[in-house]
Amino acid sequence: MSIAVPTVIDFDLHCHSTASDGALAPAAVVARAAGQGVRVLALTDHDEVSGLDEARAAARAAGIAFVDGVEISVTWRGTTVHVVGLRIDPASAALLDGLASVKSGRVARAQRIAAELEGAGIPGTFDGALKYAENRSMVGRTHFARYLAEIGVVDEPKAAFRRFLVPGKPGYVPHEWARLEDAVGWICAAGGQAVLAHPGRYGLSAGAMDALLAAFRAAGGVAIEVVTGSHSPDQYRQYAAMAEQHDFLASRGSDFHAPDEGGADFGRLPPLAVHLRPVWRDWVL
Ligand code: AMP
Ligand code: MN
Ligand code: MN
Ligand code: MN
Repeated sequence: MSIAVPTVIDFDLHCHSTASDGALAPAAVVARAAGQGVRVLALTDHDEVSGLDEARAAARAAGIAFVDGVEISVTWRGTTVHVVGLRIDPASAALLDGLASVKSGRVARAQRIAAELEGAGIPGTFDGALKYAENRSMVGRTHFARYLAEIGVVDEPKAAFRRFLVPGKPGYVPHEWARLEDAVGWICAAGGQAVLAHPGRYGLSAGAMDALLAAFRAAGGVAIEVVTGSHSPDQYRQYAAMAEQHDFLASRGSDFHAPDEGGADFGRLPPLAVHLRPVWRDWVL
């Protein structure tokens, strides 16, 4: 007889539910994570904390540890950057006011995205995207991508982020999200730790990345994601080195959105390299 003994605890500190652009309800996200071996889970919906109560209760029922989280959309020097907040107080007025301000432009932006797509010969996408946005105030590009796949304009949602919805393609509408200093400030005011999400995704030069890390630290940021579903194995090594070199804590999370959309799933990514200082090093769970 053999039994499987996990050698490392599976911390997954980044994922999404129907409270933003995930496809599963918060309780279903937690059930999936627990079933796939995650033992400490943070739900980090975009600009939204409304899924946390349901997820926390589901985690208690499933016997796994739960971390209140959020992923805030930021515009830094014209680039969209995401900042994850971990162990936030979801009732913090500073955080809730801040998130309300980030969200306020989303529906108008979606109308402009739809107008652009209509100009490209694809009508009806505003209502189409809304069908996929359980939380209408959080309607975003993922919901458009799902609708474009539904009507057969693209084969799968992922493909919509190549032909549409990105800079230079129809359906891309530039948007001013939160300022970096503000987003990190809200997370700190809510007692949380600010983590720079998937730094490898921003396409920044080495110099710009250094400037981003400096601005992030000055604002109060403490960690960067190293192992994430958005990084390649080469990038795990690259950002592990960057975390060490710049003295940041390291985080890990799948960025799970949906079972069938080709993104990362729970329980699949490698652990953080042992020489890194994990963002959870001082946590008492
Ligand atoms: P929004 O906040 O409305 O601009 O939407 C951003 C979301 O779109 C991200 O959180 C991802 O879920 C999704 N997304 C962005 N780029 C891609 C991509 N290349 N492939 C798949 N999903 C993407
Ligand atoms: Mn997303
Ligand atoms: Mn992100
Ligand atoms: Mn995410």
